Amino acid sequence: MALTNAQYESIIREYEEKQIKNRHILENRLSDIRNAYPEYADLEDASASLSLSFTRRLIDGEEGARQALSEALESLRQKKKDFLLEKGFSADYLDPVFECADCRDTGYIGRKKCRCFEKRIIELLYHQSNLSGTLMLENFDTLSYEYLPKDILPDYKKAVETAKSFVSSFDECCRNLLFMGTVGTGKTFLSNCIAKALIDTSHSVIYFSAVDLFDTFAGHIFGKDKKALENFCDDLYHCDLVIIDDLGTELESSFVTSYFFSFLNERQQLGKSTLITTNLDLKNLNDRYSERICSRIIGNFEICLLTGPDIRICKKT
Ligand SMILES: [Zn+2]
Repeated sequence: MALTNAQYESIIREYEEKQIKNRHILENRLSDIRNAYPEYADLEDASASLSLSFTRRLIDGEEGARQALSEALESLRQKKKDFLLEKGFSADYLDPVFECADCRDTGYIGRKKCRCFEKRIIELLYHQSNLSGTLMLENFDTLSYEYLPKDILPDYKKAVETAKSFVSSFDECCRNLLFMGTVGTGKTFLSNCIAKALIDTSHSVIYFSAVDLFDTFAGHIFGKDKKALENFCDDLYHCDLVIIDDLGTELESSFVTSYFFSFLNERQQLGKSTLITTNLDLKNLNDRYSERICSRIIGNFEICLLTGPDIRICKKT
């Protein structure tokens, strides 16, 4: 499941709060109407005494009693609605209040999650991903080959196919991807395409630029709050996909780097996918991170090379 237990419980709590809030709204409306119009309270009393007066007849099994009671109650219900309309309210003003009429704010229809619940999960996943705004602009639907020079088109199309197959096989196997190429060759764009497609199918995705990720690691490692580091790592270990953008642009720190690579190992062992983009080529990766670390990346990641000029400059010219 893409949600952690804590996230699931937080959504359930939102539903409970919604129910309480809407019950209060209804109670306040009822008491306002009763206070302002005592004759409305008379109609309510009439419904109660009507049911009471039928009790004996129902117990005795009198033929037609149930039907007669339901007709009488329906007529009183109609009178109440007419009364509300006459006083300038809507006919359903005193009906139970729901934000989602389908599930009556329970989040479930039978044992199945309601559409509003699914929508809330996806909202939460977007928020958690650190990417919410970007993904509306950068996704498989907005992908275009228009500004690409002809000579790099085949490689780029191949990378797009890899990205699509990464998404379609995501639930079947753990794959790690490394988009490698110079600045502006579409690596981040493709990783965003993958992120959106996965979040829209309720997978949890967390995006970090390498700079931010290493800073956050360092802040937690050297900070006093060990619990914060634990929680942070817990999210990073267990989320369905972690994207690390621009590896190699972070400040060099061998201590944080070793932390980072033990994080990669941990995800590998948990069978969780990771996606990395980098401007470094294999030689530079090797120079920057030890050979041991580099060979681990090469061994566990599918390398997808993106070459060519900066697409952003091609668009401008
Ligand atoms: Zn619903």
